[in-house]
Amino acid sequence: MLTTGTRILEVAAEHDFAVPAFNISDWAMSQGIFEICEELRSPVMIAIHPDELTHVGGDFMPAVIQRAHKASVPVAVHLDHGTTYEQIIWAIQCGFTSVMVAGSMLPFQENIALTKRAAEAAHAVGLSVEGELGTIGKTDVEAEDGTQTIIYTDPDDAVTFVRETGVDSLAVAIGTCHGIYPSWMKPELKLDLLERIDAKVGVPLVLHGGSGNPDPEIGQSVKLGINKINISSDIKVAYHEKMREVLQDKGLREPLTIQPPCVAAMKATAAHKIELFDAGGRASLY
Ligand SMILES: [Zn+2]
Repeated sequence: MLTTGTRILEVAAEHDFAVPAFNISDWAMSQGIFEICEELRSPVMIAIHPDELTHVGGDFMPAVIQRAHKASVPVAVHLDHGTTYEQIIWAIQCGFTSVMVAGSMLPFQENIALTKRAAEAAHAVGLSVEGELGTIGKTDVEAEDGTQTIIYTDPDDAVTFVRETGVDSLAVAIGTCHGIYPSWMKPELKLDLLERIDAKVGVPLVLHGGSGNPDPEIGQSVKLGINKINISSDIKVAYHEKMREVLQDKGLREPLTIQPPCVAAMKATAAHKIELFDAGGRASLY
């Protein structure tokens, strides 16, 4: 069923697991994500970035929302990385049930002002709001957002930010990057910082840029207070690597022959994430 981000995350916070937020901007991939979450009985957030929404168009959304209503697991439809008030209003108009206001590239007080204003509008019509404090890195040109150097989230600033803005969840910067890590880069999460933030902040915490971090670190972050993890690059790489292989056969033409093996490869990657986040079987808690 379709639900809000707050509802999905409050159960995850109570039971110490993380809800996967998979980015989709294509119908075949979106169907695959719904299917694997239903097969594994995992709640899910269908995440769509404003650039992805521009790519598919707002008319894509009624189909996604209709599919969410029919899903046998809880689904929130979430705008990923809204950076302007106008994008949040667009998400409200399109029927999203959750939005992220990504203001961490702004100075602290401006981030508070934007997030508070957007949160008031979203809350007025029942959407949940994720805020962002601290910046995460960016590893490649196709990564959706990020900076060259990471600014880690300060626990005291996080308390102030949540209180002033009224957000329902908070994306923190503890050492992840958007995109796929180059081979020379050794990602490492500051799990002690996560513990300090979690001890002070009362809302569920969110991890962005989780593609490519070592599994044991991600698994531990879930035990230490992360309740939502965004996965974008990993599932898209799985899908398109398979597609490159399939397209070696130049006789193929039909989406219905080309896409299914690619969707299957993507589902295998998504299934691995769902298990890593301890989200499998959790739909029964709702
Ligand atoms: Zn992100």
